[in-house]
Amino acid sequence: MQYGRIYNFSAGPSMLPEPVLEEIQAELLNYRGSGMCVMEMSHRSKVFQTIVDEAEADLRTLLGIPDNYKVLFIQGGATLQFSMIPMNLMKNGVADYIVTGSWSDKAYKEALKFGEINLLASSKDKNYSYIPDVSNLPISENADYVYICENETIHGTTYQALPNTKGKVLVSDQSSMFLSKPCNVADYGLIFAGVQKNVGPAGMAIVIIREDLIDPDLDPKTPTYLRYNIFSENGSMYNTPNCWAIYVCGKVFKHLLNLGGLDAMQKINEDKAAILYEFLDNSKMFKGTVEKKDRSVMNVPFVTESKELDAEVVAATKTAGFDNLKGHRSVGGLRASIYNAMPKEGVEALVNFLKDFEENYGK
Ligand SMILES: *Cc1c(COP(=O)(O)O)cnc(C)c1O
Repeated sequence: MQYGRIYNFSAGPSMLPEPVLEEIQAELLNYRGSGMCVMEMSHRSKVFQTIVDEAEADLRTLLGIPDNYKVLFIQGGATLQFSMIPMNLMKNGVADYIVTGSWSDKAYKEALKFGEINLLASSKDKNYSYIPDVSNLPISENADYVYICENETIHGTTYQALPNTKGKVLVSDQSSMFLSKPCNVADYGLIFAGVQKNVGPAGMAIVIIREDLIDPDLDPKTPTYLRYNIFSENGSMYNTPNCWAIYVCGKVFKHLLNLGGLDAMQKINEDKAAILYEFLDNSKMFKGTVEKKDRSVMNVPFVTESKELDAEVVAATKTAGFDNLKGHRSVGGLRASIYNAMPKEGVEALVNFLKDFEENYGK
């Protein structure tokens, strides 16, 4: 780490790759001879159009997005998608939701405003510490889609296998795992991600949607700005987009391609997570809160025996130069978010710190 930067374990906004930040710094005052910063640039300019086009092309390469899927850049973060999805995808007015944590619960509650929403499965009985068996759920006959949050950022769970939707469209919130590993886009009708977790700055979601699901014929009261077809027909520029976020995401896409793409990222991420989980599995003071089979590679919640000790550890990590290790208020304890941009050295440094803390505690 350079520039006095620290290992920031925030769940989001979170670390960006240092080489990307350096490139941005170098281009800040004058983007490639344009005489201006990307923040000052018309979104209708040729130079910005090139930025958008390259960002989309690189994302398509990274994920192998099939031609019959559109890529949309939409403001409002991931949260806006909780309402855009039911507003745009409900033809029969029916959808099935699987609730595995705070984010899918929020999406579920929002969807209740728009139609008949069935709660297919939930892991609330054990404080969302596992993913239910999704291999044979009672999918509704006329469900317009089945909804999941594929990696629950707060609870630290992730799906090892996608639900059997029995032919229905699968919609997935991938916010906290987007681009952390390869993904077969054709398995989904719609994937979305708020980019500030694993990809870029806050304030934008990327939506990858199968073309045939983009329907212009919606309830006439649907606001223009909340229609996928408007974003699709206007290249995500019906109005002024989040130009800065698109620019930074584009840089991160190129960075990931340079590192070897998503196969390489998966290996790097699994190695990092293994270091932390191995420590937790062998520690007497700290333990992970999630069933082993469902543990996230991105968000790792853990606890000690008491809230007081949790708080003591969090304070000590701050003094030691780490940040944002406090668990979400709904779960408590600690949480290390170790997204793509967290270096392996950061995880090693944290584990060494926790080991020392445990060994020396009370001495
Ligand atoms: C952070 C997060 C969201 C919300 O993202 P915003 O961009 O703040 O709206 C939604 N889903 C998941 C899984 C998240 O991690």
